[in-house]
Amino acid sequence: MKFIDEFRDGGIARGLIQKIEKSSSRPIQLMEVCGTHTVSIFRYGIRKLIPPQIQLISGPGCPVCVTPNSDIDYAIALSRRKDVILVTFGDMMRVPGSTSSLLKEKAEGRDIRVVYSSLDALKIAEENPDKKVVFFAIGFETTSPTIAVAILHAKEERLRNLFFLNSQKKIPPAIFTLLQSKRVKINGFILPGHVSTIIGSDPYQFIAKEFFRPAVITGFEPLDILQGIWMLVRQIEEGRAEIEIQYKRVVHKEGNPLALRKVLEVFEINQAQWRGLGWIPESGYRFKASFQELDARNLYVEVETPREHPECKCGEVLQGIKTPLQCRLFRIVCNPENPVGPCMVSVEGTCQAYYKFQS
Ligand code: SF4
Ligand code: SF4
Repeated sequence: MKFIDEFRDGGIARGLIQKIEKSSSRPIQLMEVCGTHTVSIFRYGIRKLIPPQIQLISGPGCPVCVTPNSDIDYAIALSRRKDVILVTFGDMMRVPGSTSSLLKEKAEGRDIRVVYSSLDALKIAEENPDKKVVFFAIGFETTSPTIAVAILHAKEERLRNLFFLNSQKKIPPAIFTLLQSKRVKINGFILPGHVSTIIGSDPYQFIAKEFFRPAVITGFEPLDILQGIWMLVRQIEEGRAEIEIQYKRVVHKEGNPLALRKVLEVFEINQAQWRGLGWIPESGYRFKASFQELDARNLYVEVETPREHPECKCGEVLQGIKTPLQCRLFRIVCNPENPVGPCMVSVEGTCQAYYKFQS
């Protein structure tokens, strides 16, 4: 446990908290973009350890939560085709679409299977040549390279029965939209660790240059997060706005160029629809012309008109405008056993984090 213990040392944590207390002179709001940060912040009680004038607000960094109902409805419609096996990551099963969910459809007898990696979809396609296997491809930049590799394999192996329902997203354009909308005051960003291993720090430069906000790419252990907060407070107090890397043991400025190249072999950058944030330019991907035959959106289905639950505030929670405590359904009607919105389904979802850790 040597490496884990190193990042949970109580003495070092107290030292960092003192540094934060000494440096912080004014009320500020910091957004943690990534869902895993939200969970770590709650799990280790970090909100209670830092001075009350530093408020942490949760952002849109849970890939399950930001998938819009229109795409969930599309997956549900595809799963209803008799010739389709729908393949997805576990969390997507329970996310409610407009009128159903993949879990309900499975109970109705549809062939829907949970996988841990997009590469598992290849195997299912090979084993079921008489079926159309559709992989519901959600995720951020962390997941996109493995999805691209699966697509390249499918093409190489001439797998004619594997398709991808693409709903992948890119994080920096969502941050741009949040800053541009000015609906929530954000003094600085705790940036996602895993996403940044792929994209590096350059795609975030606009945060400092165009919006003059500091941001720190931060790891997930308690000491990482405390150090990230301290680095942000220091920048704010010194009047600086830079993109810094706290998570240096994993993240490098240039990211992972090989992984990025794989993604761009298959996809081109396109607009994408986000729950709560709407259509955001250049925040997603579409298939390049040479990979069109793998696009599940070419398979004919009738998709219902998407509707949101009228009382679910997930869209506002994802933008940091509301907390789950401001949703009337929280805890009483909506809980992990009976989730009304995706923010309560996913382990990275803000509503589930509040439910588990906030008494
Ligand atoms: S993939 Fe990693 S970095 Fe991205 S939101 Fe999930 S935990 Fe955060
Ligand atoms: S508590 Fe449930 S209903 Fe309320 S915003 Fe969160 S997911 Fe939606």
